[in-house]
Amino acid sequence: MRFSYLMVVTVFVLSIFSCSKTDSEYIAIKGATLFDGTGNEAIENSVIVIRNREIDCVGKSGECSIPLGSEVVDAAGKFITPGLVDAHMHFFQTGFFDSRPDAMDLNETYPFPEVAAYQQQNPERYYDTYLCSGITAVYDVGGMSWSVGLQESAEKNPMAPHVAAAGPLLTPVPGAPFDLPSDRVLVPLDSEETGKTMVQYMSALGSTGIKFWGLRADDEEYMSYVEATAEEIRRLGNQMIAHATTLKQAKAAMKNGAKLLVHSVADTGVDDEFLTLAMENGTIYNPTLIVSAGYTLAFRAAAGIAPLEINDPNGCVDAKTMDLVTTASQFKDHPRLTNEFKERLKNFNPETDIISDIQLQNLKKVYESGIPIVVGTDAGNPGTLHGVSIFDEMDAMQQAGIPPKDLIVMATKNGAMSMRRLDDFGTLEAGKFGNLILLEENPAEDISNMRSLTHVMIKGELMRVDEIQGN
Ligand SMILES: [Zn+2]
Repeated sequence: MRFSYLMVVTVFVLSIFSCSKTDSEYIAIKGATLFDGTGNEAIENSVIVIRNREIDCVGKSGECSIPLGSEVVDAAGKFITPGLVDAHMHFFQTGFFDSRPDAMDLNETYPFPEVAAYQQQNPERYYDTYLCSGITAVYDVGGMSWSVGLQESAEKNPMAPHVAAAGPLLTPVPGAPFDLPSDRVLVPLDSEETGKTMVQYMSALGSTGIKFWGLRADDEEYMSYVEATAEEIRRLGNQMIAHATTLKQAKAAMKNGAKLLVHSVADTGVDDEFLTLAMENGTIYNPTLIVSAGYTLAFRAAAGIAPLEINDPNGCVDAKTMDLVTTASQFKDHPRLTNEFKERLKNFNPETDIISDIQLQNLKKVYESGIPIVVGTDAGNPGTLHGVSIFDEMDAMQQAGIPPKDLIVMATKNGAMSMRRLDDFGTLEAGKFGNLILLEENPAEDISNMRSLTHVMIKGELMRVDEIQGN
């Protein structure tokens, strides 16, 4: 990774407000229209001063002194927001079926145990992909237990986004083909004891959240295990996450204190009871709109119907992922892809069939009721690539009727809040990490303008995004 600027003037600025600092530990970006992530009005002609890793001052021109010796970046005509947060992704997944043998078994070509080991040992290529996409923090809401260790290693790595991770998921199902005998993703919740022990272990490891994948809301015995587990989560100060795609599951999760719902309610409209439960409980809603179509698009690529379309002008997607998805059609004769299935895949229209109306309507209702919403892609699932997918997800959320100005808050502050890291990042305020992005176009006019990003700053280090991957 090389450090460079688009328009940097490295000068020793003698400001009338300057203090006595004379070294270059300061960087000041001035002249941009700045959205601080809180939802406040944009600051025109702003100044943001970063000292080492932290924000020192944010304000209108003249409100922040630019210390002597600062590196000054002239960003007039540009836009700044906090670094983006993808509040739903999975490090153990590659973006293709090699990490999801339950959907299509590619073990013959890509043995899953080797894929899983590679994912554990090589998260850095995704760090680059995320930073390149303007994402300075990610929340892995389910994976093998090693994912929790990434929290600390990424925090210490100046060139990594911040990571929060939940680790293995509790489920009513016996397991899945992506469970390794030595390292499970899905842990069957078969007793109160299993649930409590897992909460104690994962909490001691430092997990951010304990996730329930699928709830048998009508099964009293199962729900008694959930209740006991949820109580242990509260006792240990952790937070409950739920993968809940039906209204009944979502309500059952919130009645047990779920703080984060990581999928849309997709079977029916959300009702008043749902909205009241969410508000009383302080639940955050992650609509995760595009992931399901991602599977279909990845199947179409595998079947040779249409290659996976990747909108990536800055070259953010890493070489290994590109190789995986561009050679997808080698599996066109795979037994999973029956003629009947291929017919259905051909009938899918990427222009109109990406998101169901019910998901969009529910998101609008949740938004209008004031429940906090985050942007989360479920990246790593087939067809939903790490990093670059965030732009499609934000476009889809805008399509539900959310104003882009509010989407900025969802993609920054609310994401940090879901990771329980709002004291450290998510907004541009003094004392927080210097995590921000520089854009050519105004994201408050249209959220797709987030695609115009040119620079990202992570932990005080400013980089051109088109120079990150592969350097
Ligand atoms: Zn997920």
